Amino acid sequence: MRQTDAVIRETTQWSAANYHPLPIVIEKGEGAWVWDAEGRRYLDMLSGYSALNQGHRHPAIVSALIAQAQTLTLTSRAFYTSSFAQFAKRLHELTGKDMVLPMNTGAEAVETAIKAARRWAYQIKGVPENKAEIIVCDGNFHGRTLTVTSFSTEESYKRGFGPFTPGFVTVPFGNAEAIKKAVTANTAAVLLEPIQGEAGIRIPPDSYLQQVRTLCDRHGILFMADEIQTGFGRTGQRFACDWEKVVPDVYILGKALGGGMYPVSAVVANKDVLGVFEPGSHGSTFGGNPLAAAVGVASLQVIENEHLAERSRLLGEHLKTRLASIQHPVIKEVRGRGLFVAIELFEDARPYCEKLMHLGLLCKETHATVIRLAPPLVIKKVDLDWAIEQIEAVFTAK
Ligand code: PLP
Repeated sequence: MRQTDAVIRETTQWSAANYHPLPIVIEKGEGAWVWDAEGRRYLDMLSGYSALNQGHRHPAIVSALIAQAQTLTLTSRAFYTSSFAQFAKRLHELTGKDMVLPMNTGAEAVETAIKAARRWAYQIKGVPENKAEIIVCDGNFHGRTLTVTSFSTEESYKRGFGPFTPGFVTVPFGNAEAIKKAVTANTAAVLLEPIQGEAGIRIPPDSYLQQVRTLCDRHGILFMADEIQTGFGRTGQRFACDWEKVVPDVYILGKALGGGMYPVSAVVANKDVLGVFEPGSHGSTFGGNPLAAAVGVASLQVIENEHLAERSRLLGEHLKTRLASIQHPVIKEVRGRGLFVAIELFEDARPYCEKLMHLGLLCKETHATVIRLAPPLVIKKVDLDWAIEQIEAVFTAK
């Protein structure tokens, strides 16, 4: 039996079926490329759902990880470490915010931001206890924990998982007027993705983020931007909010913060917000551990040193322009910012992803009809051009 078949069989037999992977077993990765169990090479246009902005096994991040692993890996935050101090300072420098609260996964960071917003509402804004409301958008994706799932609008994410956490008000994404109407005296925060990733790379209308910023300022509400997928250069700016020169009150960060190597997430905000946590009020055994912190610092360094946001912007424009010129009746729209591009079809995207896989290009459908293209930002132009040729081939094949 082929190694690929054996691995797929064992995985299917021994693990819960909460994913529907393409039938490929990946054994090795380097830069924008991966190799399967049979030694075939594929271009990775998914990047671990944007966690691999720096590419697979970036040497600088591997070195930082090994060096830290040979010194100190875990203390818990019961003690101080120089590695965490450096990580927090670096994130402060990058965002201009006063404070960092480290976690591991994106969903945990979102949970943390929600806790911060609620406490802020009670302690600073004066909302009556247990009455805080957070405005969220339809089509959102902020993770899979139960509270986060509670305000998803995706039936398949929620079915059978109730009862859900109350305190969330949903409005249409991209509509600032709807947020205005949803605001009450108890509104603590607006939580949104500046570009919705899982929903199919939904880009809001121009000046939406600025309007949200203005509304939040006017009503004394926190603007919390989930930049877990869109942050760190993915959309062609350091943060997707930068496209509108908007600074949210709270950045929620993850994915590429760990360089595709280690789960590292963080909530970053000023003292008036993150100052609501006192010792014992929140925590995580692994959050901010020395290994995570060292990987985080190296991951941020690579993004800056290699100008990955700018690369993403330039290569993304090229990708979008080339894809937009493909004429095929099944293509509804090509859209994107930076190397975060969607090809929306009039029919299911999965068969096209499978065809692309056979041509050596890995990508994944999102929301049935959207092909999401989000390669590592270190991708070479020649490799991107090769990818475009494969996509053209799939859409021109009889
Ligand atoms: N928020 C956004 C915008 C995401 O895209 C994701 C994951 O795709 C998450 C949160 C959840 O992150 P994690 O899977 O690390 O919990």
